[in-house]
Amino acid sequence: MRNKFKVLVVTGVPGVGKTTLLQHLSKMAEEKGMRVLTVNFGDFMVENAIKEGIVKSRDELRKLPLRKQLELQALAAAKIVERAEESLQEGGILVVDTHALVKTPAGYWPGLPEHVLRRLKPDAIVVVEAEPELVVERQVRDKGRQRGDIGGVEGVRRMMELARATAMASAVWYASTVAVVYNREGEPWAAAAEILKIAESI
Ligand code: ATP
Ligand code: AMP
Ligand code: MG
Repeated sequence: MRNKFKVLVVTGVPGVGKTTLLQHLSKMAEEKGMRVLTVNFGDFMVENAIKEGIVKSRDELRKLPLRKQLELQALAAAKIVERAEESLQEGGILVVDTHALVKTPAGYWPGLPEHVLRRLKPDAIVVVEAEPELVVERQVRDKGRQRGDIGGVEGVRRMMELARATAMASAVWYASTVAVVYNREGEPWAAAAEILKIAESI
């Protein structure tokens, strides 16, 4: 039911601040002498997609044909576990920056379906949240990304509701916990500290 290393999966709507707060978490974990490997699921997908010449940037992934996204998703899950097996021993913690729910032109799509969970076997799934209005402000400020397809405040609100439910549905497969963590404005380190506590309690 578990990998030899601990697995914490961090999810949340685009722009809520997952990658930012996980940078804080990595630093905090290092200071505490914890063995933590933080990976971004999208990095593994986009690397292959760029090699194939089918996307130029990460925000194009969710617009690819679904069968292609599925193939990239499966490859990414396998590679992440391979990487963790190489660099983490027993007691180490793998933190995966990803999505429980992906908005595609064909509909909402699970980021953590059974075939992904079978590899990751998460101990815990964290759902990062913030007020939808703040999430949209963060999306707008972040000029390096294209998140217009998420649909503004209403789109974020709808995705947040579904993302919680989807995280819980994913948790059922491998008996993972689900924790909702707020990423308060200007305080990403506070959310990082909360997530680190969850990691320590696994
Ligand atoms: P995606 O799922 O699309 O990768 P994300 O959840 O990883 O999004 P980030 O890229 O970490 O989101 O953050 C989006 C923007 O919000 C960034 O410009 C970041 O600096 C800002 N941000 C993150 N956390 C906070 C916070 N607590 N307060 C204010 N701004 C924040
Ligand atoms: P991110 O930078 O976290 O937004 O990741 C970039 C893109 O990768 C996302 O917008 C999705 O298209 C894709 N992605 C990330 N995680 C997953 C996942 N678990 N399943 C499917 N697609 C994913
Ligand atoms: Mg991110």
